[in-house]
Amino acid sequence: MSFLLESLSVEDNPKHCGRCLYGALVLCTAPPEIRNDAPFKTTNSTRRNIDFWNTLYRFLVTPRSDTQVEGLLARLSQCSCQMGDRSITAYHITGQKTESWTIERLWILKHAPPLLKPKYTTARIAFVINVFCMLYRGMGDTGVRSVKSIAKGGVELWPTSPADLVPFGADELVRSLMQWYRFIPDTIIYQLTAKILHVCQHILLPSLGKFKFCNAIADSTKEMVDLQWSSFLPYSIRARRHLAF
Ligand SMILES: [Zn+2]
Repeated sequence: MSFLLESLSVEDNPKHCGRCLYGALVLCTAPPEIRNDAPFKTTNSTRRNIDFWNTLYRFLVTPRSDTQVEGLLARLSQCSCQMGDRSITAYHITGQKTESWTIERLWILKHAPPLLKPKYTTARIAFVINVFCMLYRGMGDTGVRSVKSIAKGGVELWPTSPADLVPFGADELVRSLMQWYRFIPDTIIYQLTAKILHVCQHILLPSLGKFKFCNAIADSTKEMVDLQWSSFLPYSIRARRHLAF
């Protein structure tokens, strides 16, 4: 796990490629019997490692410009890892074996115009999607009792307090989540937002309104329906519509 945390210590320039980080994430968090079936399940020791969860979370929600996000995805897609290191080789092998489910989550990959598809490759985005899924699972079942406990602060599991979920402020968090969805249209981002909102209602609601978060969900849903509908149309009509993107 120290390998992963060390590599992510400089958020915009991880020291290793996405496949390497993906494999390291799987191998350091899941016991062997569940690695292949459910790579984002976690062990109890991982569950209690607050530094681990905070590092993953801050890696995602660190404020970035669009150019910086594009640079980060490009960095993840380029492997310059030291393959002579046996651990690093093992991370790449595990990543290659288990990362494909992430890209299959993207509805847009099936229906998007051909020009957009090169943006959605496992090399660029598998690690980010897996981190979102890990965080979603990591927040667990935030029922009424656990939300009250988190609000008081000092619980043993992450998030230990609402402050863990808004490390750069509510506005930056909402901006960051909406930005990720523009780059990687996976609904896990909205699912995680809903869990964060459950814990941080009063902190987050003004920012969700300010940045018209609900409109963004409605727009992305409309886009999803439009793209799926267009796939049923004759090719000549579809081609004309793609020119509008
Ligand atoms: Zn690599």
